[in-house]
Amino acid sequence: MLPRNEPPTPKGRYYEIRAKGLREFAGLKRDDERLDPFDLARAAGLLVAPFEQIAPLLTSETREHLLGDGSANWSGGAASHMLPDGRKLIILNPTHGITRQQATLMEEISHLFYGHEPTKLAIKRKNRNGEVVARDYNNEIEEEAYSTGAAALVPYTALVRMVSSGKTIREIAKHFGVSPALVEFRIKISKLWDNYAANVFSGDNK
Ligand SMILES: [Zn+2]
Repeated sequence: MLPRNEPPTPKGRYYEIRAKGLREFAGLKRDDERLDPFDLARAAGLLVAPFEQIAPLLTSETREHLLGDGSANWSGGAASHMLPDGRKLIILNPTHGITRQQATLMEEISHLFYGHEPTKLAIKRKNRNGEVVARDYNNEIEEEAYSTGAAALVPYTALVRMVSSGKTIREIAKHFGVSPALVEFRIKISKLWDNYAANVFSGDNK
């Protein structure tokens, strides 16, 4: 039997409560409403700047790394200093698809809500293959921010209902405007995979 009201793990419940707070802050009332991270960012006083806008501030070497060889190694970041008007600046990797940028933005918003140290865009070093390696962040903090952001995008209670009614990952992803990979992550971390498989692969979708 699936718990229908809250995630089965303590960690899951912890993230879910915070994710609910983020959704409420964005003005959402129902658990199956789509959360637009860009709306939430605006409500939270964040400025999500297009990369082209900050590109002139970077050295050409940094710019080339971020968009070229290094582009696979970063997804986004928040500036460590506030803008003069009090807003926080967030930059997303423009070479990534929109659903990935949205998940990254949710993660950055979560970092700020948790009061995590802002992640930095600074490039630390090159590895043995000469590839750019981004700073090594604290895993626990990253997990907390990503998981909370994912829970805000795809709430547990709505996910349980959709999985139980035999909806596919693709359908759920489309509903919430997120990537199928994020939905799969939410299903697995919420321990709904067996249920999902039983409902989707049996052909008995009721
Ligand atoms: Zn992060």
